[in-house]
This record gives sequence, C-alpha cells and structure tokens, in this order.
Amino acid sequence: MILWGTTNLKSSIEQGEFNCPQCQAVSPYTLKKSTEYFTIYFIPVIPLGVRGKFVECNQCRGAFTEAILSYDPTAEKVATQVTVFRILVAFMVHFQKTGVTHVTSCQSAYSELLGQEIPVEIVEHELQLALEPDSSPKNYILSEGATFAPDAKLQMMASAMDIIESEPVDNEHSRMVLAEFSQMLGFPEADFEQVLEVVAEISLMSKPGLE
Ligand SMILES: [Zn+2]
Repeated sequence: MILWGTTNLKSSIEQGEFNCPQCQAVSPYTLKKSTEYFTIYFIPVIPLGVRGKFVECNQCRGAFTEAILSYDPTAEKVATQVTVFRILVAFMVHFQKTGVTHVTSCQSAYSELLGQEIPVEIVEHELQLALEPDSSPKNYILSEGATFAPDAKLQMMASAMDIIESEPVDNEHSRMVLAEFSQMLGFPEADFEQVLEVVAEISLMSKPGLE
C-alpha cells in the first residue's frame, strides 16, 4: 500500500519593514506563503499550488493580509480590528472551538470585519500562537475585552455564537459557553438573557440567507 496525502509547507518570500498595528511601531516583517504539496510516504513531492499569503510581524508574530504593507499608521481602526480578531481566536482556544468549521467561521467573521477576504492561514497562524503553552487566552480576553464599548462586545459575542454554532451543538452548551464569555467581557450575569437576545439578532442579521 502506498501512503499518500497532502501537506502544507510555509516559506518566506520577502522581508522588510512595516507599520505594525499590534506593536504600534515600525517592525520587521516576513511575507510568507503556504503551498500545498501532494505527499507520498509523508514526503512532499508535487506542489499543488499556493494556498495563501500573509505578512508575519517578526516582533509580535501577528499575522496580517498583504494590504497591511500599505497601512496608514494614523488609522487606529486597524489596531482595533486586529484586537477583536485576537479576542475571537483566544475565545476559540479557551473554549476548545478549534476545529475546521470553527476556523472557517472565524475567517469569515474577520473578513467581514476588515471588509476584505482574508486567507485561512491567518487564522491558523494566530491559532498556533494562542495554543502555545506560555500564551494565556483567558487573560487576553479579560484584559483586552474590557477596553471595548458594549456594542463592540455584543458584536464579538455574535461572532463567537457563529463560531460555536458552525458545528452542530445543543442549545444548552451554546448558552453555557456564551454566558461565560459574556462575563469575561464584563457583562453582569443578571443581564445575560437580554445580552443573548441582542446577540442572536445581530447573528441573524449577518446571515440574511438563513432563516
Ligand atoms: Zn508587531
């Protein structure tokens, strides 16, 4: 029997300096691409094509789309969007929602936030960082989540709800996870029913095709 499959290999294609929204400074970056290979006995033999490209900051190791290279440092907005994305990734790790469907759902939430399609590699890269033993996703949510206004937090919860429900789960489980996340973001426990109602509405609005 021949053991065959596919694998993704990452390689660097360019180096330079950019305005990193996460470091809020000029930092060195590496432009990386991930190529899919056909493997035989786990050895990559035939390149099947480039799956995605992303820019990695050599300082904070954050991942961004190539468009970041022409990012205007006066725009605070990008830094905020990156933080929201990282909170969602921290949410996925803390609540163990790291399957393929969760990743895809997070990818579409972040794409919607940025107003441009982002490669799935960006989510995978951030996920790897958040899964490292010295990273603390819970503390990240507690410290960064608190800095946002209530409407932004509700939006994050709606994305979290989409991530959870991208996989068949029972309502009780979904509620439990959202209740904990809602408290981590600083909503009082007594307000949860109200919060959940708004979140369900936002979540429905972002999927007009679904009833
Ligand atoms: Zn950085």
